[in-house]
Amino acid sequence: MVPKERIEKIVEGYDKDKITVATVCSHTSLQIFDGARKEGFKTLGITVGQNIKFYDAFPKGKPDEFLKVDSYLDLLDMADELAARNVILVPHGSFVEYMTPKKFEELEVPTFGNRRVLEWESNRHMERQWLVSAGAEMPNIIEDPKMIDRPVLVKYDGAKGGRGFFIAKDYPDFKLGIDSSQRFTIQEYVLGTRYYIHFFYSPVRTEGYKLKKGVLELLSMDRRDESNVDEMYKLGAQEELKKLGLFPSFVVTGNIPVVVRESLLPKLLDLGEKVVERSIELFGGMIGPFCLESIVTDDLRIKVFEISSRIVAGTNPFISGSPYSDLLELDVSTGRRIAQEIKFAKDNDVLPEVLS
Ligand code: AMP
Repeated sequence: MVPKERIEKIVEGYDKDKITVATVCSHTSLQIFDGARKEGFKTLGITVGQNIKFYDAFPKGKPDEFLKVDSYLDLLDMADELAARNVILVPHGSFVEYMTPKKFEELEVPTFGNRRVLEWESNRHMERQWLVSAGAEMPNIIEDPKMIDRPVLVKYDGAKGGRGFFIAKDYPDFKLGIDSSQRFTIQEYVLGTRYYIHFFYSPVRTEGYKLKKGVLELLSMDRRDESNVDEMYKLGAQEELKKLGLFPSFVVTGNIPVVVRESLLPKLLDLGEKVVERSIELFGGMIGPFCLESIVTDDLRIKVFEISSRIVAGTNPFISGSPYSDLLELDVSTGRRIAQEIKFAKDNDVLPEVLS
């Protein structure tokens, strides 16, 4: 992990009127570039051979400049060059995944948010310790496959977008599906409606839904479209399909906007608040956008099965705002909100508080 003092030193040398917001050309880059431009920043898109022609179809989301590298790991040796451009990196899921969390922690480039969260988030045990000790309810874990006595989801460590996850209802089912060469967790399958809640925590603002320090915002929500599980019902019951060799998979292919019944909002904000307060105690706090991936049961309990501590792709439907962010300010995507936070911190001389 790059020491905080090192990042502070680099930022001290920045020309604050020439900050460039940079990210990898994928995932949520359109709204990050669009939002940064709206807040007056220059933008830089990092690519490794991606097809960047698609940005021509979305000119407002196209970065001012591209930086082509042979491998994301090349960025580790480019810290001086990026500092000379006064770059602030905005991490997103693909950026961290392509570099790997370990290497991402080593980048000597000022990065929006607290990179200490990566360790807590990428280890399922630490993630659980954090969320449960914050007071969040999580799906039960079944340690011994022989004890499977209800529907469970078998999750492989580090599986991307749910690839390879499978549902089992008993031990024979588990044996049929398991790839024992991989590390896995068996989680109770929670029946309910999936909501992915997009929050933003600002440690530097003071107006709004106040925490002990800073404020919490609820910017939007989505539900993921997952292939093929979300369309499987059209072919009939899963048990019958299994006999034909057809198994459900959970590969995210898109996102659908959601609003929840209003009476759930206080509960969601309370949950977001507890998760932030606990993160401050555990590792100095996560900063900026985060998403609580949850399932609401029919008795209106909220079970959190995962946290993503950065901008998530589920915020993409809200490039010009959501029914929730509109009540804070019109036309603010999560990408733009990040740029606003950088600008606010810059104008108030507290940039190190939102960078790591
Ligand atoms: P994850 O990789 O943990 O985000 O999970 C991928 C997908 O699996 C989610 O988007 C949900 O559709 C589903 N899922 C994950 N955990 C559970 C659970 N405990 N119960 C039911 N569905 C789940």
